[in-house]
Amino acid sequence: MQQANRYIEFKDDGPGGEEERRRLKEQWKSGLLKASLVVVVLFAALYHFLMTGKPAVITSLYRKKTTDSGVHEDGRGADLRSRHLTAEQAQEWEDAINRAFPWYGKYSSSTTAKTALIHEIRGEDGKSEGVHLHLQTPPSEPQPRENSIV
Ligand SMILES: [Zn+2]
Repeated sequence: MQQANRYIEFKDDGPGGEEERRRLKEQWKSGLLKASLVVVVLFAALYHFLMTGKPAVITSLYRKKTTDSGVHEDGRGADLRSRHLTAEQAQEWEDAINRAFPWYGKYSSSTTAKTALIHEIRGEDGKSEGVHLHLQTPPSEPQPRENSIV
């Protein structure tokens, strides 16, 4: 787990700066996120590393439900930076994750039911908050039991 964390970094160049980076890191380590989401994020980060030679940057994990479907509030959503990728790389990234993790289970929102989705988020003022890779896992996913390894 510690070694796998080398494939990820946390956003520190937004308005929140270093404070935001610390908050994201805390969330990542806290156990707040669903186990399935953690696996998907690490897979995505490894794939990003193989494609670019650089760790993936996590820009959002847990956040209160606003305009999205609420998956971030539920610990089932993560956003990764994609603006530095070419359109082809971004598409390849999205496709690879969706092939590895086909969506299953019920979906209760109007959002497209996919594990990975490159999309643009707009704030309440209609301004773009940027294109990014959104990752999510289904609510129906069973949680593995705790064990003594971790
Ligand atoms: Zn998201």
